[in-house]
Amino acid sequence: MSQLPEYDELFKVVLVGNSGVGKSKLLARFTKEEFVQDSKATIGIEFAHKDIHIQNQLIRAQIWDTGGQERYRSITAVYYRDAVGALLVYDVSNRKSFNDLDHWLKEVRTATGEETRVLVIGNKSDLASTREVSLEEAARYAETNGLKVIETSAKDSSNVQEAFLGILNDIFNKHRPSPSVHSRGSKLSGKQNPPKKSGCC
Ligand code: GDP
Ligand code: MG
Repeated sequence: MSQLPEYDELFKVVLVGNSGVGKSKLLARFTKEEFVQDSKATIGIEFAHKDIHIQNQLIRAQIWDTGGQERYRSITAVYYRDAVGALLVYDVSNRKSFNDLDHWLKEVRTATGEETRVLVIGNKSDLASTREVSLEEAARYAETNGLKVIETSAKDSSNVQEAFLGILNDIFNKHRPSPSVHSRGSKLSGKQNPPKKSGCC
């Protein structure tokens, strides 16, 4: 039996930012709705997906997680290849992770195309008493770089869906092909992009 792809478009989105900011927990929260304290960091790229609908299209959000490579400050080029979105994560209770956003933004800009959408995420918003970076400061940083920022908590789930859905909608709107183009999304994710879901309509 021939297998038809189960979705219309595939969006590859990468998570970047210092070790410990909560990238893996955000991914787990978005894809599985769970939060488990202190899971073990592993080495090697990992990814998970979640299918969502945007304007009658079934979008497969394929979210890549570093698996701990970021501890060495540099992530392999394969990680970024064909990414159409990047989530730049810092920890609101850790100033260094915020200061290091510049490093990650440069790496994303160097490794991906100009049109790659980037969203800044200030995670651990539940840690009010140990906060080191205000939303105002983060908003100024984001604006300076032509980006938006959203604060999340993978722990209490606040804004996690909003952050992921925000960048996916942004990608969708940015890359939306003209109505005359039939093979949707062929430029979105290179070789990974599947053919259209069905031959019809
Ligand atoms: P990664 O290295 O960026 O992938 O970070 P992890 O997802 O492994 O999380 C690092 C640590 O931060 C773990 O102990 C998590 O339980 C904790 N953590 C992650 N997200 C949150 C959050 O939103 N709030 C709080 N309080 N802790 C979090
Ligand atoms: Mg991790």
